[in-house]
Amino acid sequence: MIAVLRNGVTETQMENLITWLRSQNIDVHISKGAYQTVLGLIGDTTKIDIDLLSGLDIVESVMRVTEPFKSANRKFHPDDTVVTVGKGENAVKIGGGSFAIIAGPCSVESKEQIITVAKAVKASGATLLRGGAFKPRTSPYDFQGLRAEGLELLTEAKKVTGLPIVTEIMNADHIPLFEDVDLIQVGARNMQNFELLKELGKLKKPILLKRGLAATIKELLMSAEYIMAGGNENVILCERGIRSYDTYTRNVLDLSAIPVLRGLTHLPIIVDPSHATGVARLVKPMAMAATAAGADGLIIEVHNDPKNALCDGAQSLTPEQFDDVAKRVEEIRRIIAK
Ligand code: PEP
Ligand code: MN
Repeated sequence: MIAVLRNGVTETQMENLITWLRSQNIDVHISKGAYQTVLGLIGDTTKIDIDLLSGLDIVESVMRVTEPFKSANRKFHPDDTVVTVGKGENAVKIGGGSFAIIAGPCSVESKEQIITVAKAVKASGATLLRGGAFKPRTSPYDFQGLRAEGLELLTEAKKVTGLPIVTEIMNADHIPLFEDVDLIQVGARNMQNFELLKELGKLKKPILLKRGLAATIKELLMSAEYIMAGGNENVILCERGIRSYDTYTRNVLDLSAIPVLRGLTHLPIIVDPSHATGVARLVKPMAMAATAAGADGLIIEVHNDPKNALCDGAQSLTPEQFDDVAKRVEEIRRIIAK
């Protein structure tokens, strides 16, 4: 249930109301926007008399929330959340008008490879470096990633370039290894690994939550809710395409998820045109389209030698191709800012 307070309500009036609600075993989440204060009532609100509450002088309106997600819900938190990734001068903000491009190879393959790609994508405007160390592969016989060594190489690339690093976690037992990782990715296959989400909810570190292969928007939000319910509010959502029947593309990029999510949640929304299409030449138009549709950022696979990549070579851009995409995305950003 949500209670919108009238303009000009005093702190004492608000405190009195909150004390009464708490005495009814209702937890209250206060959100002070630029114009209005909104109270999110959490708990069993069935016993709250909605007419009584709406009748109070300081209450403008009361709504029952039908959506089961509360922490991620824009109704509770009208302003966009801005997630800060990384520390110090290289920290990057995502959301609320701050746009970020994450780029790098599907997998970290060697020190030379990750540092070469990191330098190249940085020169083209990427502000975060991606690289898989623990890889979720369909076949157990495929390259599984360099695992802990991959994380060390990513950390080295961060030292060299200053770019904060983004990489996927598949097992909560690995959390201690992710100390130097700035943004922990939960991949599509683990979007509903609820025990993993609960453990990540105990951290303060930002989490990049990718939409599951066949997940609805509501399911994506409920997974974000798992992380937030544990106390970690630093969640970035990622649309990366969903499974359909067509075989021309790896997945179908649901661009409409961007405006739909924008209305439902205050969390930042980024788009992965690489996994969405699976085809390098389709990455540029989809990156541009996602930017035009209002995404807060992009995550793009870039490899120094896509033909010989150990994972996802077909969808990986060369550094030159990435440079072109980054420029076009920047042009789109300028146009939509007007
Ligand atoms: C990846 O980012 O390399 C990846 C495996 O993504 P997804 O979970 O979206 O398939
Ligand atoms: Mn990949």
